[in-house]
Amino acid sequence: MSRSAPGFDAVILGGGIAGATVAAHLAGAMRIALLEREPQMATHATGRSAAMFVPSYGGPEARALTAASRAFFRRATTETPALFTPRPALHVARADRLDRLDDLLRPPLDAERLSAAAALQQVPALRAEAVAGAVMERDAGEIDVAALHAHYIRQARARGAEIHTGVGSPSLARHGGAWRLDCGAGAFQAPILVNATGAWADATAAAAGVRPLGLKPRRRTLVLIDKPDHWTTERWPIVMAADGRFYFRPYNGGLLLTGCDARLSPPCDAAPDEMGVALAVARFRQALRAPFAERIRARWAGLRTFTPGGAPRIAWDDEAPGFFWVAGLGGFGVQASPAIGRLAAATILRSATTSRRASMLAEHA
Ligand SMILES: Cc1cc2nc3c(=O)[nH]c(=O)nc-3n(C[C@H](O)[C@H](O)[C@H](O)COP(=O)(O)OP(=O)(O)OC[C@H]3O[C@@H](n4cnc5c(N)ncnc54)[C@H](O)[C@@H]3O)c2cc1C
Repeated sequence: MSRSAPGFDAVILGGGIAGATVAAHLAGAMRIALLEREPQMATHATGRSAAMFVPSYGGPEARALTAASRAFFRRATTETPALFTPRPALHVARADRLDRLDDLLRPPLDAERLSAAAALQQVPALRAEAVAGAVMERDAGEIDVAALHAHYIRQARARGAEIHTGVGSPSLARHGGAWRLDCGAGAFQAPILVNATGAWADATAAAAGVRPLGLKPRRRTLVLIDKPDHWTTERWPIVMAADGRFYFRPYNGGLLLTGCDARLSPPCDAAPDEMGVALAVARFRQALRAPFAERIRARWAGLRTFTPGGAPRIAWDDEAPGFFWVAGLGGFGVQASPAIGRLAAATILRSATTSRRASMLAEHA
């Protein structure tokens, strides 16, 4: 049983955007191993996102983390390939939902009210009834998620992190102040375990004997359609219903749509269902001026995972020593990933320094 395991300061479970950004920010200061169950990292939520940066998205914590990530993405427009491409977000409201626009105009959001006529000029395919009022959020944009994930992984490796994929689900146990993990890639040992396993984070906690948070994974379906030849969509903004019923945006020469489905799901390899696809198409059609026979090019689904209160959990477990959560990243885990990595690393390093100081003081007492 007690085969000796290579020692690390922290083992990160999960190779989505959460695990990748934490690895990038911790490596260098700590000896890090990142373990991903699948043969490929970013297979689940991270690889299936709509790849948008929308500062007004989500609750106060999501907005704060996104705001704290903005400077990173501004700088990232100059990278090759560009990790970030600006594209404003046009929030539109029907006459009975105009109040939903007010919240978007509060600082620090960078947004301005637009007349219905000006909004329709931006996206002439929209029906007038769908646009009684509008707000343009200026500093939204699109993220190259694969390039962003690769950026974090490159940085983690360059700073000495060990990364293993296809490890299966490690067995987890805590002995003598350290976590011990046994998996396909061998045995690993560290005083700190970072749980960045997305929709599976509660299952991971349970496997480690830690109380789950009550996370709720919700399925979201995306549909990619061909646009009609007579629409010039390349310069369209991201279009979002202010009441959260749909959004769509230019994507790979077509349009990416969702009807904002959010059905609860167990953690799984989420597949698009007919209901989610039908909802996306129906809500898109309702927003349009003229009938439209769509040609679906691709469809996919992923799980957005929420804590019971909706705020992400980027913190030590309240009870289990050395167990750190990076979970409940909902629909903003990509756009807030720079700040999520910084916050997680700073919290972990602060505690590690404090406990190292405490043990040095104890040694010298
Ligand atoms: C349809 C859709 C659209 C979205 N659009 C956006 C958007 O526009 N902008 C935005 O910012 N966010 C968006 N999101 C949200 C974003 O994708 C997520 O918040 C983010 O990807 C979560 O990252 P994660 O690393 O926590 O989870 P994941 O990417 O799911 O990664 C978790 C990883 O843990 C691994 N794992 C699980 N169990 C174990 C184990 N026991 N051992 C080892 N590894 C394990 C899994 O295989 C997986 O690779 C969207 C999500 C969806 C589904």
